[in-house]
Formats: sequence, structure tokens, C-alpha cells
Amino acid sequence: MLQSILSNLSIILLMHLIIQALNNYKKHLPNMLYLFLLVMTVSASVITMFYLPIEFEGYRVDLRMIPLIFLAYFGNWRLTLPILLIVCVWRVLIGGVGTIPGILFGMIGPTLLTLAVYKNNKFSSSYLDKILLFTACWFISDFPIIFIIPNGLEIFKSIFFLRYTSLLGAASVLYYFVLMERKRYNLNNQLEFIAWHDSLTKLLNRNKFFEIVEEKRKATNENHYLAMVDLDYFKKLNDTYGHVVGDQILSEIGSIFKNYENEYVKVGRYGGEEFIIYQGHTNFDQAVQYLEAIQKEIRTTPFYIDEDLSTYVTVSIGIAELKKGMNLQEAVKRADQNLYIAKEKGRDQIEASEVHTKRISITVGAE
Ligand code: GH3
Ligand code: MG
Ligand code: MG
Repeated sequence: MLQSILSNLSIILLMHLIIQALNNYKKHLPNMLYLFLLVMTVSASVITMFYLPIEFEGYRVDLRMIPLIFLAYFGNWRLTLPILLIVCVWRVLIGGVGTIPGILFGMIGPTLLTLAVYKNNKFSSSYLDKILLFTACWFISDFPIIFIIPNGLEIFKSIFFLRYTSLLGAASVLYYFVLMERKRYNLNNQLEFIAWHDSLTKLLNRNKFFEIVEEKRKATNENHYLAMVDLDYFKKLNDTYGHVVGDQILSEIGSIFKNYENEYVKVGRYGGEEFIIYQGHTNFDQAVQYLEAIQKEIRTTPFYIDEDLSTYVTVSIGIAELKKGMNLQEAVKRADQNLYIAKEKGRDQIEASEVHTKRISITVGAE
């Protein structure tokens, strides 16, 4: 019997390991394939347990309920119901005595109860709530023993302790591993975010920005633009209102830039009060128009120093084309040269003379 309990537990833990591996590769898998593999993994685990029953006093049970209630608890009904359907159909096909009670009380009842209880706010419940729910699930699953089997109450009395402790033990082990995995996953995401982003503006840092741009360039050889953005007279602003206000403004400008990011537009903090924008899948006119929109939004946004006092900030921009085979640093250098021209010409402008021989300059207020 101990052997059967352990084999059920190994199936549960193997399922957990496969789900963990799937979660690690989630970013690289199409979403439908990820969901399909998840559904198959949990279904296969439950079905395997049908064939490895635990014999209690001549009565056969297994730990099939555990993957189902965990899925209902941690997942959602869209994921849980297809799995429930697959395993129920499989159980019908196996047939034999106890098919219907096994399906209704052993699988559907506990799963639906968990789904109903944890529909909202699943993580705010206490350990006691979880144990109570688990106990209710166990009672539902063993309910048919008392009422359906002749002499059922006697059997129930003799097996309930082992049955309950084996279920609770297996569920506790799995719960521990799932929690550890969730912690690891969240920590990993946080570390990735810290490694790839600037802490003040939450924009991409320079290294990650260039890594992403190199990736994007691989897709096509043409129509990539880099723009260097520098805040105008920012030192004066710091000197007037202090560095804390300066930091706050940089952070708010970071949020403005974030709103303009999409699959083909990425923004990084180059350093200090300088930012770098990549645009792909566009043409020169559209790229400039997009920059104008960003520039206009920054120019017209009031940055509050306190309730009654606000200030405005402008930016100068230099744009350069990232041509086929061109080194990224070369494009940055050209954008930088244009930025200096924009500064010289009075600031709050976009300069593109290195891109087109015809000089483009959008001056303050020009629409
Ligand atoms: P220009 O229009 O020529 O760019 O003038 P500027 O004052 O913006 O240029 P300058 O390079 O002289 O000064 C940049 C200032 O940006 C200096 C520094 O105090 C400020 N700065 C850079 N990084 C930060 C930061 O993280 N926080 C704050 N508060 N200020 C910063
Ligand atoms: Mg600067
Ligand atoms: Mg500046």
C-alpha cells in the first residue's frame, strides 16, 4: 500500500516538474501550445493514477483529486474544465464498478467546489481555510463509500484516517513545491526586471536596449531609426527646484516614453537626462512624426513641484538611420551629432541632417 501511495505521489511530483519546465519555457512557446501541453500534462497525470490504485481494506482509491483541486485553486475554470472533461471521459471509457460515483464524487465535486470557493481572491485565504476546503473535498470524494457500498460506514471508519492523511500529506508536499516554484518564478522576474531596466525611469537600460535593437534588426535590413533625446536646461531645473524634483520629473518623463513603446518602438535611458529611442518597421517621415508627438506631449505636460507650482520641460532630439550593416555605435554617434545641432539651433527641436541632406528642424510650437 505504501508503494502505491508513493507511486501516486511520484506522479504528482513529476507533473509538478513538467509544469515547472513548461513555465520556464513559456516565453518561447506559442500560448496555445503552452496551454495544450499543460492540459495534456495534468490530464495524463490524473489518468495514470486511475491505473495505479491504492488498496485500502479491499477498497481501491487514488490521489486523482489532488491535481484537479490544485488546478482549480491556482489556475482558472478555462483551464480546469477541459481537463476535468478529458479525465471524466477517460474514466467512463475504462468503465467498471464505481465509475459514476468515482467521477461525480471523486473528481467533479471537489474540483467544482474549489473553483466556486476560490473564484476570487484565491491567495488571501488562510491555511485553516485551505485545510477546511481540502477536508470538504476529501469528504465529498469518500462520501459514496458510506452511502453506496454495503457495509460502507464500517469501511469508511477503518480507512478514513489513512485515506485522509495520505491525501493531506500529498497535497501539503505539492503545495510546498508549488509555493517554492512561485517564489522562484517571481524572484526571477524581479531580477530580470532589475537587470534590464533603469531603476528611476523604469525604462530599458542601455545594455538591454541595444540587445533588443540588435534582435529587431535581424528581422529586416531596412527602416530602422535611432534617436537621441536630451532634456533642455535640466541642470537649471535641478539647481532651481533640487535634485529630488529633478528625479521626479525624470521618472514622469519615463512614464510618458513608456506609453509610446510598442513592438516596433523601444525607449532606453542612455544615461543622466539622455534617452534613446529605436523605431523599426517605419519610414523616415513617420519616424519623425512619432518623435514630434512624443516631444509635444513632454512640452505640454505640467510637472508639479507642489500643489500650486508646476514647470514645463522641453527636449531636443537628434535622429539617425540605422542602415544595413551599420554598427550601432555609428548610428548613435550620428544621432548624437544631430542632437548637438538641435541644441545649437535653440533646443526643443528635432534634427535629422545626418539622415537627409535636407535639414529638418521642428522649432518650438511649430505644428
Ligand atoms: P542642455 O539643454 O544643454 O542639455 O542643458 P542641461 O542643463 O540639460 O545639460 P547639462 O549636461 O549641463 O546638465 C545635465 C544635468 O542633468 C546635470 C545633472 O544635474 C542632471 N542629471 C543627470 N542625471 C540626473 C538624475 O538622475 N537625476 C537628476 N535629478 N538630475 C540628473
Ligand atoms: Mg545631457
Ligand atoms: Mg540636457
